[in-house]
Amino acid sequence: MFVVMARTATEAEILGVKSHILAEGMTPYDHVGADRIVIAVVGEVGPRRQELMSRLAGLPGVETITPISRPFKLTSREFHTEDTIVRVLDAVIGDGGLTVMAGPCSVESRDQLLETAAFVKGHGATVLRGGAFKPRTSPYSFQGLGVEALRHLAEASQLTGLPTITEVMEPNQVDIVAEYTDILQIGARNMQNYSLLNAAGRVARPVMLKRGFGATIEELLMAAEYIVAAGNPNVILCERGIRTFETYTRNTLDLAAVPLLHHLTHLPVVVDPSHATGKRWLVKPLAIGGAAVGADGIMVEVHPRPDEALSDAEQQLDHAQFADLMTALLPVHEHVRSLHGDPLVTGPALGIGAGALSKH
Ligand code: PEP
Ligand code: MN
Repeated sequence: MFVVMARTATEAEILGVKSHILAEGMTPYDHVGADRIVIAVVGEVGPRRQELMSRLAGLPGVETITPISRPFKLTSREFHTEDTIVRVLDAVIGDGGLTVMAGPCSVESRDQLLETAAFVKGHGATVLRGGAFKPRTSPYSFQGLGVEALRHLAEASQLTGLPTITEVMEPNQVDIVAEYTDILQIGARNMQNYSLLNAAGRVARPVMLKRGFGATIEELLMAAEYIVAAGNPNVILCERGIRTFETYTRNTLDLAAVPLLHHLTHLPVVVDPSHATGKRWLVKPLAIGGAAVGADGIMVEVHPRPDEALSDAEQQLDHAQFADLMTALLPVHEHVRSLHGDPLVTGPALGIGAGALSKH
């Protein structure tokens, strides 16, 4: 449930409500909205729900108590109606602009990373990606350069000014990854690794959580809920394709997830057409598709010589292909940006006014 405080509620009244919630063995999470404070009551409430609701309703400064209809609470739009905007160095994710996260699948050498970092920065990327700890299907495949790659990412960030994102695979890697890079990525294979989600929730870095290839949208949001409940509100979601019966593509990109997630949650949503398709010639049309359905960002793999790449060689774009993608992508984003609102609020189709204005 949420406790909606009156606009006129005092600090003491807000504290009073929170200590009451704590005394009940529940956890209060407050969200300072545009004009009032809303406090989510999270925990196992059981049969005392009605009684607790009426007791909270009677406390000074409380306007109403609203039940939360979704299993995810802190990540739900019901609790937090405004979009979450994640800011990291000069990148702003979720403000209506299009974040472009680009860089190699794996950091393979200092030169390889710096070459691609400078190129993608020059062509409009706003975040630099590069894998250091790689989750590979085979134990005999390249596993990443580890800490050496983190050092290269830090240097590339210093040279270009781009914030960096890299995958963290285990709770004990969280601190070192947070020391060298700006955004922690939790990969599809680890979406429900709860100790990792909790560890990422305790660090002062934004986290991008990728959808597991067998995970529903609700499971993705419940996983994000772990990170937010552990104390980190700066979560970005990533749709990177799910496994279906189709084999021509590596995964099936679920583009409907983007407007659905925007309806269900306040968190920004990024689309990764590289891992979704596994084929470089499909990356451009699906990146454009992601922008068209309102994604807050696109993550795309770029390598100076993709054919020589140590991982995901078939899906990485070369520099010229990335430049070409950006030329197509940015105008699409500009064009569709004004058309998006929440369809359930503003009407049955894209292109309808008021909600679009309030969203961006
Ligand atoms: C990646 O982005 O490097 C990656 C391994 O992606 P995913 O977890 O989506 O497979
Ligand atoms: Mn990859």
